[in-house]
Amino acid sequence: MVTTRTPLMAGNWKMNLDHLQAIAFTQKLAWALKDAKHDFDDVEVAIFPPYTDLRSVQTLVDADKLSLSYGAQDVSAHDSGAYTGEISGAFLSALACRYVILGHSERRTLHAETDEVVGSKVKAALKHGLVPVICVGETSEDLEKFGASAVPVAQLKAALEGVEGTPDLVVAYEPVWAIGSGQAATPEQAQTVAKALRDALEELLGESVAAATRILYGGSVKSDNIAGFMREPDVDGALIGGASLKVDEFSAIARFR
Ligand code: PGA
Repeated sequence: MVTTRTPLMAGNWKMNLDHLQAIAFTQKLAWALKDAKHDFDDVEVAIFPPYTDLRSVQTLVDADKLSLSYGAQDVSAHDSGAYTGEISGAFLSALACRYVILGHSERRTLHAETDEVVGSKVKAALKHGLVPVICVGETSEDLEKFGASAVPVAQLKAALEGVEGTPDLVVAYEPVWAIGSGQAATPEQAQTVAKALRDALEELLGESVAAATRILYGGSVKSDNIAGFMREPDVDGALIGGASLKVDEFSAIARFR
């Protein structure tokens, strides 16, 4: 089956940039992307600011018709009610978020998010019309013990348990050992796991979902290594942390060709 997948370059700001900084950053980024419009026409660029920035980002994107997508870094598994500190998918939809990152390794390790929690958040996101960016990835111990694909594939299967039909999804393969370490996986390693994840999608949700779903690589992506990843047939973009906080670097990543 031949399906063209629009490359997605997703900037995960993590807990960086308050709303005033977000406004300045988004304007500069939009300008950098606009400046080289012909290079970006077929690439989707998305930013994932902290919750408190989302309204400001929405206002800018809306008012100036910026070709930027945006989303949140997490969502509650619940719709509303007595869940102090949580944010509902309904609230994110109301701010016209397209995406939400789920199961990032920092949520899994620092906030004890289990596969089950990630799975319930995936369902909550879909229910509210958000596209989940499901993060999976192995630690260096997992890599030694089980090889590269087993843990990410198991995490994806758990995240999609009970999900049916033809959901709009993004999967991000982020080896934990590569995140923020400066030591990216090789394009070949990323391709091997991306292919295993696509096979798992086909098994779970069928050929057309597997063919349409964008699988990103994440972990120490920079402007000087992105092209290698993008040459791999099953890698459709990147989830970028540190390098997404620099306008020049992030826009150079988006101009990977
Ligand atoms: P990094 O982070 O690009 O800084 O390695 C990636 C991520 O955590 O999504």
